[in-house]
Amino acid sequence: MSETPDSAVRTYTEQHSAAFLDDLAEWLRIPSVSAQPEHAGDVRRSAEWLSAKLRETGFPVAEIWETPGAPAVFAEWPSEDPGAPTVLVYGHHDVQPAAREDGWATDPFEPVIRDGRMYGRGAADDKGQVFFHTLGVRAHLAATGRTTPAVTLKLLIEGEEESGSPNFRALAEKHADRLAADAVIVSDTGMWDEDTPTVCTGMRGLAECEIQLYGPAQDIHSGSFGGAVPNPATEIARLVAALHDEDGKVAIPGFYDGVTDLTDTERALFAELPFDEATWFRTAKSQAASGEAGYSTLERVWARPTAEVNGIGGGYQGAGSKTIIPSSALVKISFRLVDGQDPDDVQQAVRAWVESRIPAGIRHTIAFQPATRPCLTPLDHPALQAVARAMGRAFGKKILFTREGGSGPAADLRDVLGAPVLFLGISVPSDGWHAPDEKVELDLLLKGVETTAHLWGELATP
Ligand SMILES: [Zn+2]
Repeated sequence: MSETPDSAVRTYTEQHSAAFLDDLAEWLRIPSVSAQPEHAGDVRRSAEWLSAKLRETGFPVAEIWETPGAPAVFAEWPSEDPGAPTVLVYGHHDVQPAAREDGWATDPFEPVIRDGRMYGRGAADDKGQVFFHTLGVRAHLAATGRTTPAVTLKLLIEGEEESGSPNFRALAEKHADRLAADAVIVSDTGMWDEDTPTVCTGMRGLAECEIQLYGPAQDIHSGSFGGAVPNPATEIARLVAALHDEDGKVAIPGFYDGVTDLTDTERALFAELPFDEATWFRTAKSQAASGEAGYSTLERVWARPTAEVNGIGGGYQGAGSKTIIPSSALVKISFRLVDGQDPDDVQQAVRAWVESRIPAGIRHTIAFQPATRPCLTPLDHPALQAVARAMGRAFGKKILFTREGGSGPAADLRDVLGAPVLFLGISVPSDGWHAPDEKVELDLLLKGVETTAHLWGELATP
């Protein structure tokens, strides 16, 4: 009996899985912690290890790309098919700091396999999810009898993601010609859970600001002057109290301008996810739900923009009392943004809103951090449907859709390359990203291999 393409991929993956896991373990032994200067040499060694492994895999091009910080890796495998689309895979080879004392059962940089899982820093975030592309492309070739992939395959594997990607945008802009692609696949996310394969369709953006209010030139006596001059701590409180209306909507005029609404289809698909609100609130360590009226909890964190106070302060906070009118007060606010919102416009709206509310006698400053733009790929996009089909073949299940409430450098690629961004991840919430005992589920890792083995053909023939 001749093999189907799907069983050929599965057989090839199984036959090569032991060597694949050995190689991944070797990579995990390199402590490529980008945040710690003493590991700068290890981050470089990690980049060199990966580029050598990609050449060994068959990529004719595999290069180290320097940045002012840690190096990235770029690889390219052109398709011989005329008119084949080009796909760029994004991931990162740096990892979060980790030490045995943080509560790891075993050395974070000496990976071990226990109960069908590989434990080690970077196993899921993100080396494991970068590495499944190597065996995936080999399985794609073996199962189809091809000598080059069905798409021109490019990889850009960053070395500073865990440090906030400070040089990523400039790197992408500098090499925009070589990175040009019809679609970007971000391999640095996860799926719903072990039994529910999902594709993430977007991430929220982020704008952050610190607002300082200044009143009297120094702290003054609340008996001699209180009741007769403006108090900056009171004014900060008024500002924060005015941030939301009674329905939990952000009350800053213009904040929602351009926001892309959820479609009925997407709301229905979100509702199919096996979401247990009680468990979710336990994870959130919160006693109750709160947020914008008219939206479910998942819709609130995935698809709606927000304003959250991250910190507030001013005046005397020591022991006992100190009867003053403080000279200054501050608040730090972060705004999560969704598709259709431009961070520059949001910043303008926030500035105008603050200016309109500050009374005479109070001076203010607002400082914004660099913003992250939101990104979203519509459900009916052909490339997104191709990802869902490839994942469905690997998992043998219906694929549902999620979004992420946080943000990443993916939006930069969308902006610089003008290509849709798709998310492909097999990690699950229990994998312990950034935590002790980070692990990856081996059966899911191999499903990741199979998914990418199917994906290049699915993308080439939408
Ligand atoms: Zn990551």
